Amino acid sequence: MTRSDELFEQAKKTIPGGVNSPVRAFSGVGGSPRFIEKADGAYIFDADGKKYIDYVGSWGPMILGHNHPKIREAVLKAVENGLSFGAPTELEVTMAEKVIEMVPSMEQVRMVSSGTEATMSAIRLARGFTNRDKILKFEGCYHGHADCLLVKAGSGALTLGQPSSPGIPEDFAKHTLTATYNDLDSVKAIFEQYPEEISCIIIEPVAGNMNCIPPIDGFLQGLRAICDQYGALMIIDEVMTGFRVSKSGAQGHYGVTPDLTTLGKVIGGGMPVGAFGGRKDVMQFIAPTGPVYQAGTLSGNPIAMSAGLAQMEALCEEGVYEQLAAKTQYIAEGFKAAANKHGIPMAINYVGGMFGFFFTDEETVTNFAQVTKCNTALFAEFYHLMLDEGVYLAPSAYEAGFLSLAHGEEELEATLAAADRVFAKLAKA
Ligand code: PMP
Repeated sequence: MTRSDELFEQAKKTIPGGVNSPVRAFSGVGGSPRFIEKADGAYIFDADGKKYIDYVGSWGPMILGHNHPKIREAVLKAVENGLSFGAPTELEVTMAEKVIEMVPSMEQVRMVSSGTEATMSAIRLARGFTNRDKILKFEGCYHGHADCLLVKAGSGALTLGQPSSPGIPEDFAKHTLTATYNDLDSVKAIFEQYPEEISCIIIEPVAGNMNCIPPIDGFLQGLRAICDQYGALMIIDEVMTGFRVSKSGAQGHYGVTPDLTTLGKVIGGGMPVGAFGGRKDVMQFIAPTGPVYQAGTLSGNPIAMSAGLAQMEALCEEGVYEQLAAKTQYIAEGFKAAANKHGIPMAINYVGGMFGFFFTDEETVTNFAQVTKCNTALFAEFYHLMLDEGVYLAPSAYEAGFLSLAHGEEELEATLAAADRVFAKLAKA
């Protein structure tokens, strides 16, 4: 029994499933999750002292790599001044200005403490602003676990085979309409049915909670046009893609302007942070200027703001996103080449610093139905062999992979050499 096995058994006695967020439990791949002791650069180290090249990056925020000195120093400096005040600080103003500078569609922004809070608040604001109850989301997209958003959701909900959850009254869920990702006709049909009832469309601009599905050409622009036609707001959920797909998020990469944007993970540099923002006239609808209530005791926490600002400043340096994209392309193409060499069919997707690979015969994967047909048993086998080789991938076939700037040639080559050995084994089996 490993130390991780022991800790998992111990954890299950006091924590439901032994984890504080379901996907960590390895439900999608079986076995015990690795309990992590520390992380540095491209590596994480488990409770048994084993070192792994990490492609999870705390589910996205670690773009500079783990425990980056610039972030660590910013946090330590902030700690000296106290941990939380529950009163405004200059740091929050600097953060708001930085976010707005990087994502021009955000004219005003409010900080929260998680991605879930960001999307939940943005939806409430869209409903309040438009005075309409219904929202439209896409099957397989995950926007956190607020009641109205946990309908046909991706991520852990998908891994566990629970696209919806008990505990959400039918009266709430009925206001959530779901369309098919990358299928504008499915969206049009819903709007034709409810032309004056839909407050907003919320979308992952690159879907990262059903593996990694980029939008097909014109899809995001088509949604923008539909929102304009029917007077609905467009919310782009950049909790995963913000400052990962490009400096101005996926919206900058694909050239589409939403009314509201939600952010998370990355702007905290690893601390619990989220944010929502957008058009000033809409944001003015939030309390205390407007009637839509939203609040948070620890919102804009000074330690979290310091960590996030340090990360965002580093991300504004020349060439960062070119580097991140090149590394991501290299690893994704490398996985595919290694799989194909051993006769294992694989499709890949990648954008900016995120990637996904699919065990499927299909050439390209662009929608949820295709994702759910992939070979998850083969993924689980592949997953554990890679783990044995010292490569830590997301423990589910439905999650995107993430690169960091700390992944150098050595780590990328070691990963691909491991993949080559693993595919050779799988081909023989
Ligand atoms: N939106 C998206 C696109 C996400 O990927 C996530 C989390 N992975 C969330 C919202 C929810 O964020 P959090 O887990 O911080 O509540």
